[in-house]
Amino acid sequence: MAELLAAAGRGTVALLYPPRCFLCDAPIPEPNPLCGPCLEGLERFRGGLCSVCGIPVPPGIDLCRDCAVEPRPFTYARAIGPHRGTLRALILGLKYEGEYALARVLADLLTDMFPAGTELIAFVPPDPARRKRRHAAELLARELSRRVGVPVGPVLVKTRSTPPQVSLAREERRENVRGAFAARTRGRGERVVLVDDVYTTGSTVSDCATALVGAGFGEVIVLTAARTTPDDED
Ligand SMILES: [Zn+2]
Ligand SMILES: [Zn+2]
Repeated sequence: MAELLAAAGRGTVALLYPPRCFLCDAPIPEPNPLCGPCLEGLERFRGGLCSVCGIPVPPGIDLCRDCAVEPRPFTYARAIGPHRGTLRALILGLKYEGEYALARVLADLLTDMFPAGTELIAFVPPDPARRKRRHAAELLARELSRRVGVPVGPVLVKTRSTPPQVSLAREERRENVRGAFAARTRGRGERVVLVDDVYTTGSTVSDCATALVGAGFGEVIVLTAARTTPDDED
C-alpha cells in the first residue's frame, strides 16, 4: 500500500511539474529544452555574409574588410546566428548553468550547415586551468557527430593556460592565444570541421586551424553556435 501511494505521489508530481521551456518557462509536452515559439524566435543569419568569416556584409559584397586584407587559415566559418537574444541565452545556459540538453538544440541547427565530404570533427579544446567544467565546444561537437555520422576526435590540445578572451581587446586576443594550441596527432589531408561555441574575432579558431593544417590535416571549416557582430559586441 505504501508503495502504491508512493507511486501515485510520483505521478501527481509529474502532472504538477511537466517539463518546462528553458527560456520562457511554458510547459512543454516532451522533455525538450525549448518550446516551439522560442525555437521559432531564434534569430538566424540570413542574407549576405562574408564568404570567408561569415559576418553579415551589405548586398553585393563578397568579403568583409578584415578578410579582404588578411588571409585566414580556415576555408570559411559559419554560425547559426548573431550572439544575442535567444541564441546567446542558450549558449550561456549550456556553459554556465549545466543545461547540457541545450547542446542538442544547437547541434540540430548546426546540422543544416554541415559541409559534405568532412572526415573529422574537431573542437576548440578547453583551457588546461579550466578543464574540470564540462566543455561547451566538445558537447556541441559530440551532438553534431551523432547527427551527421562523422567521428569527433580530441585532436587539439591547449598547451598553456591563457586569460579568458572575453576580457581582452582585439589585438590582445590574437597575442593571447598565439601558439597556445597544438595537434595531438598527424593528419593525412582530411577535411576537418572545427567546432566552437562563439566566434568573436576568430583568433582562437585561427590558431586551432593553423595547428591542424600544420599537422597535415586538410582544409578546416569552422562552425560555431553564434558569432559576434558589431551590433552585439559585449
Ligand atoms: Zn519557450
Ligand atoms: Zn570576413
